[in-house]
Amino acid sequence: KEELNIIQGALELRTKTVEDVLTPLTDCFMLSSDAVLDFNTMSEVMQSGYTRIPVFENDRSNIVDILFVKDLTFVDPDDCTPLKTITQFYKHPLHCVFNDTKLDAMLEEFKKGKSHLAIIQRVNNEGEGDPFYEVMGIVTLEDVIEEIIKSEILDE
Ligand code: ADP
Repeated sequence: KEELNIIQGALELRTKTVEDVLTPLTDCFMLSSDAVLDFNTMSEVMQSGYTRIPVFENDRSNIVDILFVKDLTFVDPDDCTPLKTITQFYKHPLHCVFNDTKLDAMLEEFKKGKSHLAIIQRVNNEGEGDPFYEVMGIVTLEDVIEEIIKSEILDE
Protein backbone atom coordinates (compact mmCIF):
# COMPACT_ATOMS: atom_id res chain seq x y z
CA LYS A 1 0.00 0.00 0.00
CA GLU A 2 2.71 2.43 1.06
CA GLU A 3 4.76 1.58 -2.03
CA LEU A 4 1.78 2.23 -4.25
CA ASN A 5 1.39 5.66 -2.65
CA ILE A 6 5.01 6.48 -3.30
CA ILE A 7 4.83 5.40 -6.93
CA GLN A 8 1.71 7.49 -7.37
CA GLY A 9 3.39 10.44 -5.68
CA ALA A 10 6.43 10.11 -7.92
CA LEU A 11 4.27 9.99 -11.05
CA GLU A 12 2.43 13.12 -9.99
CA LEU A 13 5.69 15.10 -9.86
CA ARG A 14 5.31 15.60 -13.57
CA THR A 15 1.90 17.21 -13.33
CA LYS A 16 1.99 19.09 -10.07
CA THR A 17 3.64 22.48 -9.81
CA VAL A 18 5.55 24.28 -7.10
CA GLU A 19 2.47 26.42 -6.58
CA ASP A 20 0.63 23.32 -5.31
CA VAL A 21 3.10 22.71 -2.50
CA LEU A 22 4.52 26.10 -1.56
CA THR A 23 4.47 27.69 1.86
CA PRO A 24 2.66 30.99 1.31
CA LEU A 25 4.58 34.18 1.97
CA THR A 26 2.19 35.11 4.78
CA ASP A 27 3.24 31.94 6.65
CA CYS A 28 6.95 32.46 6.15
CA PHE A 29 9.16 33.35 9.04
CA MET A 30 11.30 36.19 7.72
CA LEU A 31 13.50 38.98 8.94
CA SER A 32 13.67 42.57 7.82
CA SER A 33 17.02 43.54 6.30
CA ASP A 34 17.38 46.35 8.84
CA ALA A 35 17.03 43.95 11.78
CA VAL A 36 19.68 43.93 14.46
CA LEU A 37 20.96 40.61 15.77
CA ASP A 38 20.33 41.31 19.41
CA PHE A 39 19.21 38.80 21.98
CA ASN A 40 15.52 39.21 21.06
CA THR A 41 15.94 38.70 17.34
CA MET A 42 18.30 35.77 17.78
CA SER A 43 15.90 34.10 20.23
CA GLU A 44 13.04 34.50 17.76
CA VAL A 45 15.17 32.93 15.03
CA MET A 46 16.08 29.99 17.26
CA GLN A 47 12.48 29.53 18.39
CA SER A 48 11.19 29.56 14.82
CA GLY A 49 13.12 26.34 14.31
CA TYR A 50 13.82 27.06 10.63
CA THR A 51 17.25 26.62 9.09
CA ARG A 52 16.83 29.19 6.32
CA ILE A 53 15.25 32.55 6.78
CA PRO A 54 14.35 34.86 3.93
CA VAL A 55 15.35 38.47 4.47
CA PHE A 56 13.14 41.19 3.01
CA GLU A 57 13.68 44.87 2.38
CA ASN A 58 10.80 47.28 3.14
CA ASP A 59 8.09 44.91 1.98
CA ARG A 60 7.72 41.20 2.80
CA SER A 61 7.32 40.41 -0.89
CA ASN A 62 10.72 41.92 -1.65
CA ILE A 63 13.09 39.13 -0.61
CA VAL A 64 16.70 40.24 -0.97
CA ASP A 65 18.69 37.63 0.97
CA ILE A 66 18.60 34.32 2.80
CA LEU A 67 20.02 33.93 6.26
CA PHE A 68 21.11 30.44 7.31
CA VAL A 69 20.85 29.84 11.02
CA LYS A 70 24.37 28.43 10.92
CA ASP A 71 25.59 31.87 9.80
CA LEU A 72 24.85 32.95 13.37
CA THR A 73 27.33 30.56 14.95
CA PHE A 74 29.91 33.25 15.68
CA VAL A 75 27.50 36.09 16.30
CA ASP A 76 27.37 37.37 19.85
CA PRO A 77 23.96 38.88 20.69
CA ASP A 78 25.69 41.43 22.95
CA ASP A 79 27.41 42.93 19.89
CA CYS A 80 24.02 43.80 18.34
CA THR A 81 25.41 43.10 14.86
CA PRO A 82 23.28 44.45 12.02
CA LEU A 83 21.76 41.58 10.03
CA LYS A 84 23.16 43.19 6.86
CA THR A 85 26.72 42.61 8.08
CA ILE A 86 26.07 38.87 8.14
CA THR A 87 24.07 38.59 4.91
CA GLN A 88 26.66 40.68 3.05
CA PHE A 89 29.40 38.43 4.35
CA TYR A 90 27.82 35.12 3.33
CA LYS A 91 25.84 36.33 0.28
CA HIS A 92 23.86 33.13 -0.21
CA PRO A 93 22.41 33.18 -3.71
CA LEU A 94 18.65 33.54 -4.11
CA HIS A 95 16.99 30.88 -6.14
CA CYS A 96 13.80 32.11 -7.82
CA VAL A 97 11.49 29.97 -9.93
CA PHE A 98 8.11 30.52 -11.54
CA ASN A 99 4.89 29.22 -10.07
CA ASP A 100 4.26 26.85 -13.00
CA THR A 101 7.55 24.95 -12.51
CA LYS A 102 6.75 21.24 -12.35
CA LEU A 103 7.86 19.34 -9.26
CA ASP A 104 10.10 16.96 -11.21
CA ALA A 105 12.03 19.93 -12.62
CA MET A 106 12.18 21.48 -9.16
CA LEU A 107 13.55 18.23 -7.73
CA GLU A 108 16.26 18.16 -10.39
CA GLU A 109 17.21 21.73 -9.47
CA PHE A 110 17.40 20.85 -5.80
CA LYS A 111 19.50 17.78 -6.58
CA LYS A 112 22.11 20.02 -8.15
CA GLY A 113 22.60 21.19 -4.62
CA LYS A 114 23.05 24.92 -5.02
CA SER A 115 20.17 25.62 -2.71
CA HIS A 116 17.37 23.62 -1.16
CA LEU A 117 15.02 26.56 -0.89
CA ALA A 118 13.37 28.26 -3.83
CA ILE A 119 11.42 31.49 -3.94
CA ILE A 120 8.29 31.13 -6.02
CA GLN A 121 7.21 34.04 -8.14
CA ARG A 122 4.48 34.61 -10.66
CA VAL A 123 3.64 37.23 -13.22
CA ASN A 124 0.80 39.32 -11.90
CA ASN A 125 -1.07 40.88 -14.80
CA GLU A 126 -4.32 41.49 -13.00
CA GLY A 127 -5.47 45.04 -12.56
CA GLU A 128 -4.72 48.19 -14.48
CA GLY A 129 -0.96 48.66 -14.28
CA ASP A 130 1.89 46.87 -15.99
CA PRO A 131 2.44 43.20 -15.18
CA PHE A 132 4.95 42.62 -12.40
CA TYR A 133 6.69 39.72 -10.70
CA GLU A 134 5.02 38.79 -7.46
CA VAL A 135 6.51 36.52 -4.83
CA MET A 136 4.03 33.86 -3.76
CA GLY A 137 6.00 31.88 -1.20
CA ILE A 138 8.80 29.39 -0.75
CA VAL A 139 9.38 25.73 -1.57
CA THR A 140 12.03 23.50 -0.05
CA LEU A 141 13.26 20.03 -0.87
CA GLU A 142 11.13 18.77 2.00
CA ASP A 143 7.94 20.03 0.32
CA VAL A 144 8.79 18.03 -2.81
CA ILE A 145 9.71 14.88 -0.87
CA GLU A 146 6.46 15.10 1.07
CA GLU A 147 4.63 15.11 -2.22
CA ILE A 148 6.39 11.89 -3.21
CA ILE A 149 5.80 10.01 0.00
CA LYS A 150 2.38 11.62 0.45
CA SER A 151 2.72 12.23 4.12
CA GLU A 152 3.88 14.97 6.40
CA ILE A 153 7.45 14.88 7.61
CA LEU A 154 7.40 16.02 11.21
CA ASP A 155 10.22 18.30 12.18
CA GLU A 156 12.69 17.42 14.91
P1 ADP B 1 13.79 23.50 7.95
O1 ADP B 1 15.04 22.73 7.68
O2 ADP B 1 14.02 24.95 8.19
O3 ADP B 1 12.86 22.87 8.94
P2 ADP B 1 12.63 22.31 5.61
O4 ADP B 1 13.35 22.49 4.35
O5 ADP B 1 12.78 21.02 6.34
O6 ADP B 1 13.00 23.54 6.56
O7 ADP B 1 11.10 22.61 5.35
C1 ADP B 1 10.09 22.28 6.27
C2 ADP B 1 8.82 23.05 5.95
O8 ADP B 1 8.96 24.38 6.43
C3 ADP B 1 8.52 23.17 4.47
O9 ADP B 1 7.12 23.09 4.29
C4 ADP B 1 9.02 24.56 4.10
O10 ADP B 1 8.28 25.14 3.04
C5 ADP B 1 8.79 25.32 5.40
N1 ADP B 1 9.75 26.39 5.66
C6 ADP B 1 11.10 26.39 5.46
N2 ADP B 1 11.66 27.58 5.85
C7 ADP B 1 10.64 28.34 6.32
C8 ADP B 1 10.53 29.68 6.87
N3 ADP B 1 11.60 30.47 7.03
N4 ADP B 1 9.28 30.12 7.23
C9 ADP B 1 8.19 29.33 7.07
N5 ADP B 1 8.22 28.09 6.56
C10 ADP B 1 9.41 27.59 6.18
